[in-house]
Amino acid sequence: MIVYLNGEFLPVESAKISVLDRGFIFGDGVYEVLPVYNGHLFRLAEHLQRLENSLQAIRLANPLSRQQWSDLLTQLVAHNHGGDQSIYLQVTRGPAKREHNFPHLIQPTVFMMSEAIQAQPPSPGVKAITCPDIRWQRCDIKAVALLANVLLRQQAVDVGAVEAILIRDGYVMEGAASNVFVVIDGITMTPPKSRYILPGITRDLILEVMQANQLPYQEVAITEAQLRSAVEIWVTSSVREILPITTLDEQTVGSGKPGPIWSQVWQLYQNYKQQLRSH
Ligand code: PLP
Repeated sequence: MIVYLNGEFLPVESAKISVLDRGFIFGDGVYEVLPVYNGHLFRLAEHLQRLENSLQAIRLANPLSRQQWSDLLTQLVAHNHGGDQSIYLQVTRGPAKREHNFPHLIQPTVFMMSEAIQAQPPSPGVKAITCPDIRWQRCDIKAVALLANVLLRQQAVDVGAVEAILIRDGYVMEGAASNVFVVIDGITMTPPKSRYILPGITRDLILEVMQANQLPYQEVAITEAQLRSAVEIWVTSSVREILPITTLDEQTVGSGKPGPIWSQVWQLYQNYKQQLRSH
């Protein structure tokens, strides 16, 4: 695996950073995960915009221009032989004496890696659990500090579930590493953007595709009771695309099978990806 670190492409085994890196010491950094389909960077502009927003939120100047990001990402994809990949990129506030306040001289650490991914067959439906949202109040920042998300996801995996759906003050927020959609009375709903959820690129694309196909949806607060009454629940992310949840806290969701709206939207999403493939 060839990775990028601070200006160089090199084998992952040779990529080394300082133990004083503020990403390591404080989790002081932000990241992005973006898919590559058939060698094409998927929704690149949206991912670079969200990276810019995350960097601004943590008051770290973007170390690269859009064009530089785009060029480096394209080179990374080529170094790793094109095809379908998942890219992880991270920017931290770099190495410095350990003090909480920002260092005077900042040399951000820029790291990117990529791994091959396989096209996913449609899911037969998976299990999720609900958990109280124990995270902080800036979940809109794609911060590398993910301890709460790690603990929540593990709680799900410990009981054979694939995701923890997070509840704050009686309302559905998102998954430990995904956004959430529900279908109630034929309407697809997802929580509105706020400081309590990550503005998912997949979430936005699903809404865009639904709008283009006149499928009704609402961006609206969803109560825990509504979640439990939904006939369809999906969790969405760049890595997992659109996963139908058919069991929630050991209760069957809807018919117990992936629902018809999920099927339709899943197909539209695949078609969208397919258009890119044929370029
Ligand atoms: N919410 C959280 C907390 C996430 O970590 C992620 C992605 O990993 C998402 C939502 C989905 O975002 P995207 O669709 O941009 O991958």
